[in-house]
Amino acid sequence: MSKKSQSKKQERAQSLNYLGKDLVRRCAAHCELCAAGSVPLSIFEVEPVPLEPQLKHCLMICELCQQNLLQPKKMQANHWRCLTTTIWSEVMAAKVVAIVVLQYLSAEHAWAQEYLEQAYLDEDEQAWVDDWSL
Ligand SMILES: [Zn+2]
Repeated sequence: MSKKSQSKKQERAQSLNYLGKDLVRRCAAHCELCAAGSVPLSIFEVEPVPLEPQLKHCLMICELCQQNLLQPKKMQANHWRCLTTTIWSEVMAAKVVAIVVLQYLSAEHAWAQEYLEQAYLDEDEQAWVDDWSL
């Protein structure tokens, strides 16, 4: 491996590591979507994933949230009742995921539609939501 590509790899690893520390601090040991505590959390990158890792695009979430997002066809609708709180999150990525999941669920669940009607998105958040769907 050339010295150049090696240092690039190191840079990437370092920035991910750096994000990890910020995420751990931000999430305060709770899932940033469903607020579950005392559960294993891992980094989830919210679509569209940027070439370089960005804090803004990362969430610390629990395994259940992760499974639901990765396999929307098997989504456990009742798990997402928690989004009534998440739509007010100060973390933009969490809010965006909440809206996208609610849009997905609203086809079959009236309560998801009701949550959506309570939500308020600014222009940037709306653009991000429009850029991604499950
Ligand atoms: Zn969760």
